[in-house]
Amino acid sequence: MPKQLYLIKEGEISLKGLNRGLFEKRLKNNIKDKLRPYHSTTQRQKGRIYLFVDEDCPRERIEHALATTFGIVGWAEALMCEKDTETIKAKARCLLEKVDTSAMRTFKVVCRREDKSFPVHSYDMACILAELVHEVHPQLVVDLKKPDLVLHLEVRNNAFLYTSDRSGVKGLPVGTAGRGLLLLSGGIDSPVAAYEMAKRGLKLDCLYFHAYPYTSDEALEKVKTLAATIAPYLNGTRLFVVPFTEGQLNIKEKAMPDATTLMFRASMMKLASSVVRTEGMQCIVTGEALSQVASQTLAAMSFTDSMAEALVLRPLVGMDKEEIIAIARRIGTYETSILPYEDCCVIFSPKHPITNPDKAEMTEHYATLGMESFIESALQETKIYSYDANGEATGVWDFSTHLERDQH
Ligand code: ATP
Ligand code: MG
Repeated sequence: MPKQLYLIKEGEISLKGLNRGLFEKRLKNNIKDKLRPYHSTTQRQKGRIYLFVDEDCPRERIEHALATTFGIVGWAEALMCEKDTETIKAKARCLLEKVDTSAMRTFKVVCRREDKSFPVHSYDMACILAELVHEVHPQLVVDLKKPDLVLHLEVRNNAFLYTSDRSGVKGLPVGTAGRGLLLLSGGIDSPVAAYEMAKRGLKLDCLYFHAYPYTSDEALEKVKTLAATIAPYLNGTRLFVVPFTEGQLNIKEKAMPDATTLMFRASMMKLASSVVRTEGMQCIVTGEALSQVASQTLAAMSFTDSMAEALVLRPLVGMDKEEIIAIARRIGTYETSILPYEDCCVIFSPKHPITNPDKAEMTEHYATLGMESFIESALQETKIYSYDANGEATGVWDFSTHLERDQH
């Protein structure tokens, strides 16, 4: 079957030393996973990956896959041919004829001759191709600084031609930095936190505390939509939905009124730590930002940290809301996040939350609430929804049976 060809530029990976092979393998597999069931193969050469995809795979599908995969700095649809000047010219003509240049005024040709045995030097080859551009699009003039159109030729084991070079999301391939658990609420911040950590190669699953009926079914649907929306960036994910109404009611009943939020956050950390442990993950990720709300002061975060039994990462800690919103818009979560369904009912929020808790006092207070049994039973009732690397829902099952299966 004929193939569609894309040229992919690796970024930070190419700076890796001995581990480079592992990073590259992961990147190739992540791309292939997203293109399934379509078949694809890859070839690697000096900081480039050539991706060959079955002809029947829709182009939008390939472009979406490449635009959401960390580890890719740039990519372009390309043509491949024999390393022969006339053949290259003929292919370049095909490529140029497909480009709509009606809104363009300038162009440039960039040639790279990696194969030094190719007899025509880069400069001469660029002149030959520039002449061709003039022929096909006579209105275009050369501009080496800010061209509207760039025609690239790379001479390697074959000759590769491409025009528009698109920017990728950069970062490192998901799965190269270990695994973590994202606390996903229905808000703006936590999906962005997931994006930021996946960008550094962390493989993430998500966990949502659901307080039905105080938080509605719509709130749960919203969180599921968010998980599906970020799933392509995470190369697939699972969403743990923890029914925590009993636990929250217990806190409401027994905790000091001003400490209820802190006690809830402490129990979130305890429960999340338990999932992290049983799932063999290495960290918890939250969307907290310094001083955003009362529970995000240094003292409050220091207390919740002390309750966690795993490393807690807060990638947004130094960001302001405007910056976070800009990313949320770019990754497509913003519109869902601003839907009105409250993710945590006001009855659980104190009027005057403590902003400067005493760690020892709060730890002691937490111990009086008897949260262990609530956490245990919430875990027994937890459901797991899974999403593939294209954001499609692929199944739902009970965490308890999942646990049993793991023990066998
Ligand atoms: P977000 O921070 O996602 O915009 P938010 O601002 O409503 O939502 P905060 O009260 O600021 O949430 O909570 C801080 C962080 O705690 C969130 O970013 C998220 O990581 C976690 N979190 C809050 N509520 C929940 C929940 N119901 N389930 C899971 N995690 C939650
Ligand atoms: Mg927030």
